[in-house]
Amino acid sequence: MPYDITLIPGDGTGPEITEATRRVLEATGVEFHWYLHQAGLSVLDQYQTVLPEAVIQSIRETKVGLKGPITTPVGKGFRSANVALRKSLDLYANLRPAKTFAGLRSRYEHVDLIIVRENTEDLYAGIEFQRGSPEMDELVDFIGRTNGQKLSKDAAISIKYISVAASRRIVKFAFDYARANHRRKVTAVHKANIMKFSDGLFLHVAQEVAKEYSDIQFEDRIVDNMCMQLVQKPEQYDVVVLPNLYGDILSDLSAGLIGGLGVAPGANIGDKYAVFEPVHGSAPKYAGLNKVNPMAMMFSGVLMLRHLGEREAANRLEGALAAVIAEGKYVTYDLKPRPDDPSAVGTSQVADAIIARMGTMK
Ligand code: NAD
Repeated sequence: MPYDITLIPGDGTGPEITEATRRVLEATGVEFHWYLHQAGLSVLDQYQTVLPEAVIQSIRETKVGLKGPITTPVGKGFRSANVALRKSLDLYANLRPAKTFAGLRSRYEHVDLIIVRENTEDLYAGIEFQRGSPEMDELVDFIGRTNGQKLSKDAAISIKYISVAASRRIVKFAFDYARANHRRKVTAVHKANIMKFSDGLFLHVAQEVAKEYSDIQFEDRIVDNMCMQLVQKPEQYDVVVLPNLYGDILSDLSAGLIGGLGVAPGANIGDKYAVFEPVHGSAPKYAGLNKVNPMAMMFSGVLMLRHLGEREAANRLEGALAAVIAEGKYVTYDLKPRPDDPSAVGTSQVADAIIARMGTMK
């Protein structure tokens, strides 16, 4: 029986890397029935939204999505389609592995991090008050009355919302992942020394959940210190669990540790549905040029295969990716010593090389 998967190519360079990824996934021998849905800027005029309801409905039916990046126009009043998708399907865990492979141009060896980012609340909950709005004025008055702080109305406010329920389920997710994948340690990251109530709550919940997992080590780090530690000795960390904003920033930092966004995969996972996508965005300046690296989305495909229980196919695709990276010949500009290296190949040639390599591994 083929797996039903909702396929969302996205926009910018999304369609090219999605096609390359679809080809390598099919070359594993696993069968898929793709339900193709468009989202992003290309459908905005037609549906007046970058995330049509049909996309969400399809994932409700297939349970699994594979998604290219979607552009979010800055400052035009659009909510991000990515944030909306995660919220509407309650994809509360954002899993972003960062692992070094031989051949990647990285300052580090032996990095093998799993970043677990809370995906639904914190400053990304979309609770914002615009400068000059009546709600903003009312909020400033309310804060003055209750908190004693006289704030200027010539300002804007975004709310950092952190709940016990969401903190508990993301920390539990991190520990369950650690246990299922034979990981030794979970590190919770926060700024509870300054944000005593919101980050303090996250830390307290993490400490409570840790008591339920005596087989896994637990520690916590303050986020600024954690940034320094990751840059100095990333090999000391294993599974790292964070609220939404810190998770977003530290996952890009971790991608930088292992050789860049071109190889950084991601998964958005909830209790019912899962959507797999690269960490990087739509890189619109390269759209249509057959230039960018499809490997981040292919590694996201590896995560999808594991989620589907197709462990052998996942290992084979990951092995082929590792071999092509190590050989360094059929790789895109970002994995070459210099970005203008004339021997860099295009997006589709990377897929050809990986398919050829998998053929020799059967
Ligand atoms: P970006 O990740 O698209 O690109 C930043 C730079 O990283 C690119 O200019 C390029 O040099 C490099 N890069 C990214 N992907 C690459 C790849 N596959 N191969 C080689 N090099 C690559 O980040 P941005 O420019 O900040 O964002 C562009 C748009 O994407 C924005 O609208 C943003 O909102 C959106 N975005 C979407 C998602 C998503 O869909 N999940 C994630 C992040 C950003």
